[in-house]
Amino acid sequence: MKLISQQGREDLAIVYVARSEGGNLVEFVESLHPPKPREEKWILTISTLYGCPVNCTICDAGPFYLGRISKEGMFWQLDKMISGKYPDEHIPVKQLKVHFTRMGEPTFNMAVLDVIKEFDWYWKAPGFMPSISTIAPRGSEKFLDELISLKNEKFMNGRFQLQFSIHTTDSKKT
Ligand code: SF4
Repeated sequence: MKLISQQGREDLAIVYVARSEGGNLVEFVESLHPPKPREEKWILTISTLYGCPVNCTICDAGPFYLGRISKEGMFWQLDKMISGKYPDEHIPVKQLKVHFTRMGEPTFNMAVLDVIKEFDWYWKAPGFMPSISTIAPRGSEKFLDELISLKNEKFMNGRFQLQFSIHTTDSKKT
């Protein structure tokens, strides 16, 4: 991966764009939750797929799908955002929310589970809170079953977040 763009504000959010070795673009974001300082809450949002096969009408990631991002590609996104601020690999943030989402429906990439499992191999982050944002598509049962086991094993007591999104353009259903 190679970083090709970085825009935003340290006190709000920074959007990064990188290009993979295969030429695919990937977007990832770090953000704060004002007025909380970074030491209280820091949100790292990473892409899990190159585009997305779900093709929701509301989403810019939908019109194309070029494959899954590898575990290494997801760790690369995280390292790009973390290493500049915490080069000693210790992240003293009370709530470090790592959000696995766009681009990409995360349940289509089993390597997301590996990133959650292995995060503490690389960083000492007592506030690490994985967060999965999913539409729970058909076929995601295996991912979600493994996620439940992982959550029960390592992320009890409010240290895990699961967000279900239901998208529709039908105004009668909203
Ligand atoms: S599932 Fe999510 S990432 Fe995929 S097209 Fe829909 S909104 Fe976009």
